[in-house]
Parts: sequence; structure tokens; C-alpha cells
Amino acid sequence: MSRAAPRDEGDAALAIELRGISKSFGPVQANRDISIEVRRGTIHGIIGENGAGKSTLMSILYGFYRADAGEILIGGRRTEIPDSQAAIDAGIGMVFQHFKLVENFTVLENVILGAEDGRLLKPSLAKARRLLKQLADDYEMDVDPEAVIEELGVGQQQRVEILKALYREADILILDEPTGVLTPAEADHLFRILRGLRDEGKTIILITHKLREIMEITDSVSVMRRGEMTATVPTAETSPEELAELMVGRKVLLRVDKAPARPGDVVLEVRDLRVVDEQKVERLRGIDLTIRAGEILGIAGVSGNGQSELLEVLGGYANGTGSIRMNGQEIDLTGTASDARTRRARGIAHVPEDRQREGLVMDYRAWENVAFGYHSDPRFSSGLFMDHAAMRADCDDKMRRFDVRPPDPTLAAKNFSGGNQQKIVLAREIERNPDLLLIGQPTRGVDIGAIEFIHEQIVALRDQGKAILLVSVELDEIMALSDRIAVMFDGRIMGERLPGETDQRELGLLMAGMAGAAA
Ligand code: ADP
Ligand code: MG
Repeated sequence: MSRAAPRDEGDAALAIELRGISKSFGPVQANRDISIEVRRGTIHGIIGENGAGKSTLMSILYGFYRADAGEILIGGRRTEIPDSQAAIDAGIGMVFQHFKLVENFTVLENVILGAEDGRLLKPSLAKARRLLKQLADDYEMDVDPEAVIEELGVGQQQRVEILKALYREADILILDEPTGVLTPAEADHLFRILRGLRDEGKTIILITHKLREIMEITDSVSVMRRGEMTATVPTAETSPEELAELMVGRKVLLRVDKAPARPGDVVLEVRDLRVVDEQKVERLRGIDLTIRAGEILGIAGVSGNGQSELLEVLGGYANGTGSIRMNGQEIDLTGTASDARTRRARGIAHVPEDRQREGLVMDYRAWENVAFGYHSDPRFSSGLFMDHAAMRADCDDKMRRFDVRPPDPTLAAKNFSGGNQQKIVLAREIERNPDLLLIGQPTRGVDIGAIEFIHEQIVALRDQGKAILLVSVELDEIMALSDRIAVMFDGRIMGERLPGETDQRELGLLMAGMAGAAA
């Protein structure tokens, strides 16, 4: 499409136009000559892998960073955005990944905070209340104006962020990965709100790495890869496969290929497992579950409902009460026996949720990390000493088979990307040849190319007859990999389903604690 407008004045039908934006952080070029046009009254998606430069670009638009080069046009006019007040003045509102609300203030106070007109607090409050009421009516955004933020769930807190932007009369709303913390029902609700706002003429920019969300809600989509904008297309004219390829730079298999499970003997049997935390809050309230050889039990749930505690107590990192039987033999949950080393000896391997804290020692080299837990392995000792050369060679071999990039055993763990760190932990744990693999958030922060690989490894392990307990907050991942799905809510298992006999909606209800979904 060509425009006759002169270069310093753009097309007024465009809510936003970025021209040639570049931004470097030291040696890292986070944005390279990025140009993008977003039409007024549309939902525009920006998709890309971790580190592609999405948040940087939006931070420039919102005045957090200054571009090294390029210009910004808002509503067809060149606009300087040196700080976030300038962004607000230009009609831009931002809903942050981590909300910036004041926890012990009310909804109303948060909405007007920083926007109240000095002495005119009362009129501000009245205006905010009116607006809240109207928005609540228009968009079913039922948020009690007098509720204190810390008492609200994340979905409601996010709505308060949106209200806050609308109160400041934002015409353009930027949302950076808004669904990461939401249940599927909350995400649906958010999307209804966004569609409503668009239909009123607002412009929405939605940043996400989830292809499904792009396909579901956007009108057009821009793809970023390594700091560059690789394409902008109307959503109706593209497909998840094409977008994935544009994101990664090669064809990606989006579906997990797996044959039906052939479950064997019971490997893990858990009865009435309970965990009480340091504040004396019961985090696990009596968990029962069974996993057989050759099957994947997926645990779905919104994070913080006891999944982490379940992994920790099974992995020997936390104390609990109840019964855990491994291959028919009771594991001692009392005293010093309940540690990670004992678990490993019983055939349990663990890929922890938080690999930066629990899975790796970031300052140690890759080969040292890969050798953890193998120190008594006869392959690695020569007489009294550890055979470091053999350990390095072993690491080199694992890195090649798990496609770790770069395949350099001498590099410190912290110098690998998140996806490659995860592959290092996976390589170490899978190669222990465990009977049971505990795996938490296997693809959190991992790019879609590496997700494909990690999923293949998990299925391959299952097909070797191993039992796998998979915990993930990504429902798509749970649906794709699990042979059975258990849903956790508030320290309990709300129900168990077969992936072929349930859907996201039903699982979402269970995740929200609605046992009615059990019907
Ligand atoms: P995305 O949001 O697509 O995941 P980001 O915009 O956050 O990507 O990051 C793009 C690149 O810029 C990454 O390599 C990141 O490490 C780097 N980066 C982002 N912010 C900073 C910063 N404040 N200082 C240094 N490097 C940064
Ligand atoms: Mg980001």
C-alpha cells in the first residue's frame, strides 16, 4: 500500500507507525531498523522467541528506553516519547507483565494514583467511580472499587491495570505477555474485553509467544526474530506453521507425535501426601496419585496451587508426610533419609521447575553441572581422583545428542540461553536412566524450536518404559504430552481426565477450583 503523505506526516488512519527503530544494549542489538504500522481500531500481535526484542520495542514506545535511531508517529504525527508521561499524554497505556499496583491500596486509589489532579481528589474519585461502573457494565469487568489490591486474584489485578490505562484516556493499549498468569477462563475474559475495546475504536498491541492467542484474537501480526522484524501479515492470511517458521527461521513441528501409551507396572504410588510450609500453611492437602511405567501423568494447574511442593517433596527437597512408594517400596519421609541423593538412588530423576536456582550452579562450567550426582560413577574415577577429562568428554557427548548450543563443555552455565540450560539439565537427568522422571515447567522460557526437541525427548523416555510426572502451567503442553491429566487446585487434585475426553474449558474450570466440572 502506498501513501501520498509526506515523510514527516504519516497516515492518520495509523494509530502507530514506527520507522527504522534501532536500540543496542552494549554489544546486544535488541532492535534493528524496525518499521511497523498499526491501523487504528485493530488488535495487532507481536510474536517472537525470548530475546527477540519485543519488550524492548514496546519500552521504547512507552518511553522507558530511548531508541538509538528511528522515529515514532502517533495518529500520523511525529511524536517524541522521552518518558512514560509523554507516552500517557500521547494516549498510550501499558499493562505490564508484572503489575505495578500498590498492594495495600484499593482498586479506586490505584486507578487514580498519579493521575489525580492535585487538590481535586474528590472529583477524581467520583470520576473514577463512574468510569469503573461504566466499564464494569460494558465489559463485565466486575471489580469492587473498594477492594484492596492484595485481596484480588491476578485476573482482577490485570483488569485494574487496564482500568488504570483507560482512566488516563488511553487510545492505544499495549499488553506484554498478559495471559501468562491467567487461567484459560480469565484469558477468555481478557480477550472479550480487548475485542470490546477494539470495537470501540481503541488500538491494542498484544505481545505474546503463544501462536494460539495470535490466531484467536489479532487482526494482524508482526513477527520478530533476533532483533529484526521478519514479517507483518494479516492474521487471516497466515497459519501457526508459517508464523512458527518466521519466528525460528526453519520449519517447526507444532504437534507432538506420539503413539498411545502402553502402561506397565506401577512405578510411583503416592497416598495422602501432605506438606506444611514454614508459615504453617498446608500446601499439599492429601495427594493421591499413581504412575505406571511407560506413561506420562500431567499435572495441570495455575501456578501456586501446590505443584511446586509436590515436585519438591517427591524429589527429596522438602519434607512431607504420607506415603510414597517407588517400585513397591516405601520411601522413608522422616529425618535425613528424605534427601535428593537418596531419591536418585531409588531411581528418581528430577528436572526442577526453577533450573536457575535448583537445576544448575550458574557459575560452574557445563561439564561440572552435567557431572553432578555422578561423582561415585566408576566411569569418572581413576584411583582416588576424579577423571575430569572423562567428565568433559561425557558432557561433550551429551551436549551433542541434546543439541545444546554452543556445544562447549567449558562454558559456564550462566552463559547459555534458557532453552540450552534446560537441555543441559534434561541431558543430565534423562541419562541417569531413571525409572521415574519428575519434570517441572519443561519449556518455561524456552523457544519453540527447543520446545519441539524437549517434547520429543520426554515422549522417547516414556516409550522406553519410564514413568513421567509432568508439571506445567501451559495447558497446551499438558494436553499434548500427557496420557492422563490430573488438575491441582489449592493443594488438592480436583480431578483426573483423559486428554481425548476433555477440553481446555473443562480443565480450566477444574483449575479454577470448580468441582462442578467433575460432572
Ligand atoms: P523479548 O521481550 O522479545 O523476550 P527483550 O526485548 O526483552 O526480548 O530483549 C531483547 C534482547 O535485548 C535480549 O538479548 C536481552 O537480553 C537484551 N536486553 C533487553 N533489555 C536489556 C537491558 N536493559 N540491558 C541489557 N540487555 C537487554
Ligand atoms: Mg519480553
